[in-house]
Amino acid sequence: TQQPEIADATLTGIDYRDHLIPPRKIPDWARWVTGVAAGLALLSLGLLLIARNLRRRVAERTSELRDARDVLQRQLDIIDRHVIMSRADANGIITYASDAFAKISKYPKEELIGQTHALFSHPDTPREIYRELRNASLAGKSWSGEFMSQAKDGSAYWVDITVEPDFDSDGNYAGFTSLRYDISDKKHIEVLSETDRLKGLPNRLKLDETFEHEIARAKRYGHPLSVIIFDIDHFKQVNDSHGHQKGDEVLVGLSWLIQAHIRSADILGRWGGEEFMIVCPETNLEGAGVFAEHLRDAVATHDFAEIGHLAASFGVTEMRPDDSEDDMIHRADAALYRAKQDGRNRVALEAVA
Ligand code: GH3
Ligand code: MG
Ligand code: MG
Repeated sequence: TQQPEIADATLTGIDYRDHLIPPRKIPDWARWVTGVAAGLALLSLGLLLIARNLRRRVAERTSELRDARDVLQRQLDIIDRHVIMSRADANGIITYASDAFAKISKYPKEELIGQTHALFSHPDTPREIYRELRNASLAGKSWSGEFMSQAKDGSAYWVDITVEPDFDSDGNYAGFTSLRYDISDKKHIEVLSETDRLKGLPNRLKLDETFEHEIARAKRYGHPLSVIIFDIDHFKQVNDSHGHQKGDEVLVGLSWLIQAHIRSADILGRWGGEEFMIVCPETNLEGAGVFAEHLRDAVATHDFAEIGHLAASFGVTEMRPDDSEDDMIHRADAALYRAKQDGRNRVALEAVA
């Protein structure tokens, strides 16, 4: 095999670099664009993730808040229905009243808004209580107490009230919120425990308390005080011939009869079965004797339904400087005993010591 002849095989003079394909030159702007684009892509991916996370958390919080709002609303509804509550502005004008308040006060809610609490004041509740309450509130203090209020129809109800002052965000007095409990039942029981089953008369417990109080007062001011005890004559016969029930009715009728004849300062109470007591402040023995005689006459001349005429005997005594309640009762009882001994239907004054 023959090699083709090569005239000149040297590479002298040839520069390989002349035959290289020059590398494509990437312009600077292109690098920038690529860099920025990549950066933006990363950034938006990041933002997308953050946004998705945020959206999820907002949704979670919204649902939590909605639940909380529902719970709060349910609680407010319960409060509205069951808690006797009102709010008033700095001028004492009612701005909110609960359903329960409307119910107990018997005013429709709309009629309560814009009124003051004077609307509920009962004529028998001392004015000072309202003044005390208002002053405490204005001084930024809370106040609580019990008092009788008047409903729209004029009926009375008792409340245990707590009044809390309200302040605005600057700390200025802005009115008050009041919470009440209906304690009418409790008050009713209290009254029952102090009164006799004979309509409305104070019972022995209450009578004792009043008597003691009157003795202390008479001693303090050096005023006279007398007591009258009376007992129906032959009352056993009323029971025997007309029955115990009828006897009770006679006792009620008698207490009304006496009540109609006594002064407002006198206190009539039931002392025992068919024995009564009258505490007469500002009255000396002579005055009490005249008064007892007047009552004796009223009883003796009264026509009791189905029974006809009855009589009673009276014992009277006046307080002495060192007297206790028992001392007075003892003397009045002794006088009453004498009245019975002397023939009944009469008044006996205390024996002179
Ligand atoms: P006198 O006082 O004149 O001596 O005779 P009396 O028959 O009234 O006798 P006494 O005062 O000792 O007895 C009272 C009677 O009254 C006895 C009792 O059965 C009756 N009595 C007491 N409390 C009640 C009551 O609440 N209701 C009724 N129906 N009867 C009563
Ligand atoms: Mg008796
Ligand atoms: Mg009697």
